Amino acid sequence: MALIVQKYGGTSVGSVERIQSVAQRVLKAVSAGNSLVVVVSAMGKTTDGLVKLAKEISTNPSRREMDMLLSTGEQVSIALLSMALQELGQPAISLTGAQVGIVTEAEHTRARILRIETERMQRHLNAGKVVVVAGFQGITVGAGLTDASAQQSSTSKNPPLPELEITTLGRGGSDTSAVALAAALRADCCEIYTDVPGILTADPRLVPDAQLMDRITCDEMLELASLGAKVLHPRAVEIARNYGVPLIVRSSWTDEPGTLVVAPALQPRAIEGLELVHPVDAVEFDTDQAKVALLRVPDRPGVAARLFGEISTQNLDVDLIIQSIHESVTNDIAFTVSKNALKKAEAVAAAIAPVLRGNTNIPEAAEVMVDAQIAKVSIAGAGMIGRPGVAAQMFTTLADAGVNIQMISTSEVKVSCVVDADDCDRAITALCSTFDVRTSPMHRRQASESKFSPAPVRGVALDLNQARVAIRYVPDRPGMAAKIFQALAKQNISVDMIIQSQRCRIVDGTPRRDIAFTVASGDAEAAKNTLLAVIEEIGCGEVVVDNAIAKVSAVGTGMEGQPGVAARLFEALAQHKINIQMIATSEIKISCVVDQDQGVTALQAIHSAFGLSGSQKIQVPA
Ligand code: ADP
Ligand code: ASP
Ligand code: MG
Repeated sequence: MALIVQKYGGTSVGSVERIQSVAQRVLKAVSAGNSLVVVVSAMGKTTDGLVKLAKEISTNPSRREMDMLLSTGEQVSIALLSMALQELGQPAISLTGAQVGIVTEAEHTRARILRIETERMQRHLNAGKVVVVAGFQGITVGAGLTDASAQQSSTSKNPPLPELEITTLGRGGSDTSAVALAAALRADCCEIYTDVPGILTADPRLVPDAQLMDRITCDEMLELASLGAKVLHPRAVEIARNYGVPLIVRSSWTDEPGTLVVAPALQPRAIEGLELVHPVDAVEFDTDQAKVALLRVPDRPGVAARLFGEISTQNLDVDLIIQSIHESVTNDIAFTVSKNALKKAEAVAAAIAPVLRGNTNIPEAAEVMVDAQIAKVSIAGAGMIGRPGVAAQMFTTLADAGVNIQMISTSEVKVSCVVDADDCDRAITALCSTFDVRTSPMHRRQASESKFSPAPVRGVALDLNQARVAIRYVPDRPGMAAKIFQALAKQNISVDMIIQSQRCRIVDGTPRRDIAFTVASGDAEAAKNTLLAVIEEIGCGEVVVDNAIAKVSAVGTGMEGQPGVAARLFEALAQHKINIQMIATSEIKISCVVDQDQGVTALQAIHSAFGLSGSQKIQVPA
């Protein structure tokens, strides 16, 4: 007999009939001899409706009251599902997050789960009941009170009342509730039932010929989820990865097997501090890299495609690529290659620079800079998702060690910095100590990831809810990135795609560079205000925000060590005359910022360029 946690999303419980059919499905699993904990979302678009109501009353409603309001949606659906099961003769009980004891931190609207009591659920399961739990919500145990002191105080004479507060985990958080319950109960598996057949190569609402994947690694899914594929909440994937929970995403309407999200081999971890585990698992370095930068290339479609097209004809494997933005008609593109490929890469870049320039009216010639004396140092770990303080802490650590950062590239689970080769050892020692990483730092080339598909790109994602923020003329000395990103982290603003430009200008006798990054659109205004204070302090130019952007990304563990992947992607965009504003890559993803109006076309172009389209017809409910 297995213990299974099933989760049903909003569409799957969107009407009485659908709740009844969920009850049938649950019953079938029970009849097959399994114990079931079922997590449900609010019915249909209930949560959106509640948000709208709040916005009609207040433009800036209190986060506590938002939690009070939004958590009601799930309370309706658990009661109805429990009744539907009882109607079928199946004993069932519904429980809210608080009744279960899903204890979270006291961060309204984005709380992380600290631990989950299993005793009450276990008791009902042992009595043969199906336990129906409200997703997306939890409870705090009271400010300043540990659990033990809370219990003690409630039995003493004049107990200070622990302030129990209802929290929510953030939109889409029911997936996270389900996987966390599975981890805490040590369930045999967690099944996420939704309105599509599983994880597809793209969102079928945007790319009609998207295809189903039968398997995907946690690392790939983490990237896709955080780059805009909302089929799974990224934190759910993080928990599955950290606790080795077997995770399946499948359709609520069919019996097809769906997609298996493959977790790495299970490392035993304490359930205590569930979502607040060690944010950084590993410090990695790579001293076998060299940097090539092309300054002042024209800012128009096709440039990146041309450059990396040439590079790939030489079969050179490019690792990091970053392209930042500039106020003029030119851009800079920088990339790293292995040291032994440097000579060839430099020759290609030098040959192509005048060609790229063509007959444009760019006053200064494009320039190629190379540097073989570099090292890439990275911190990695799924626990850094949504925790803006972690990248800031890395930059601070490097600044304190007197290490200047030349390039920064971030992904959801990794932050990499290119530094001077002479600084590598110092950087690693400092990072290991800050993040309490005791295992010896890994040389990147040896740190091979699990991959089971030779395809370079497994899936693509689009995020239309991002804004680009650029800070111009930041002094080029240690500690600047640390100051900037610390200030943002203090405001709890998560940033993505941090890019520091290659071009250095001397203004007022100080060398300066631009730093650009993306944030969720909702955070853009707050980011700008925070930065205005910072630039005053460090004395740099101006802050520029652009809301009309889209971020389009391709993900796949197979792209590592395969030359030509980036070139193919850039070529697909060039063919559609799409200009690339920013580029950031990690080992398993390539992200580009493009104009918002071109986002969907860009997504479709990349999907088709990597042969992901197919003839299988995916049904998507309205
Ligand atoms: P639920 O209410 O079941 O949690 P969501 O709406 O949160 O469902 O997530 C399912 C939706 O995610 C799908 O209907 C689809 O439009 C969207 N989606 C985005 N990217 C993908 C992808 N790569 N694969 C499958 N679905 C995706
Ligand atoms: N009902 C919540 C939301 O719409 C949580 C969820 O569905 O996962 O965001
Ligand atoms: Mg969802």
